Amino acid sequence: MNAGRDRFIGRTLGVATIHGKERVIGPALAEALPIAGFAAIDDVDTDRFGAFSGEVQRTLDALDACKAKAKHGAEVSGLDLVIASEGSFFPYPPAPFVPCDEEVMVLYDARDGSFFEHRHVSLQTVFGGEECTGWDQVRAFADRMKFPEHGLIVRRRETWNAGDAMKKGIRVEAELHEVTTRLIQQNGSCWVETDMRAMMNPTRMEVIREAAERFSQELSTLCPACGACWFRITKAIPGLPCEQCGWPTASTRAYLRECHSCGHTATGPRPDGKSTEEPQHCANCNP
Ligand SMILES: [Zn+2]
Ligand SMILES: [Zn+2]
Repeated sequence: MNAGRDRFIGRTLGVATIHGKERVIGPALAEALPIAGFAAIDDVDTDRFGAFSGEVQRTLDALDACKAKAKHGAEVSGLDLVIASEGSFFPYPPAPFVPCDEEVMVLYDARDGSFFEHRHVSLQTVFGGEECTGWDQVRAFADRMKFPEHGLIVRRRETWNAGDAMKKGIRVEAELHEVTTRLIQQNGSCWVETDMRAMMNPTRMEVIREAAERFSQELSTLCPACGACWFRITKAIPGLPCEQCGWPTASTRAYLRECHSCGHTATGPRPDGKSTEEPQHCANCNP
């Protein structure tokens, strides 16, 4: 098999999603790779690999869940090239008050069983949850979460227990009012949170688009030694020099690329061309 971009010629890419992600993932890959086209695999039961809204606890880590989803997509569709993605939301480690969105993507090629993967972290998120005791509080939270463009989930309490009332995908104010008012009357409070399914959260959909574009660039970068596709970045190398004193800072100076096929490695400059760091990030100038 040709290991380069030719391996994709004329093939149909299946996108394992029931949440409309093919609209952003398909075009990004079709632009970078010589595939014939793409199609959503809409009978894939992606929720069984873990849902955001608490009914199914994800037992695999995001990468394994994504691999399982892509393989399952290939099985149910008969397509031999399938992409799946998986999002996780958590406090951004360097700034724990800021939530981040980590999107993991896996491309599975059933012809030779290979997996290509990509991680993308974004600070662009509309993500949150709050226990509410009155409509004014619900309304204020909904405004902060950019409702109704972004959908909401309402349930009895933060942790979902079997049998608890829950309503997903709310995008109409009258419905939000009805569901929350009833629960607050019954229990004194209710839990309201963002519905993170891609079609309910346009901010997340944009992050998935960005992830798919970066992944496509990585996939179409060829190894200079053997010609295989996906000569991908595996490590960021710190030490970008300070523009004032030349001291090496903690910022990324270069990226290490590594071939999954032959193991060839090479370091390259930052794709954004930045070659010095501002002195406020320098431990020598600004200790
Ligand atoms: Zn190689
Ligand atoms: Zn300095």
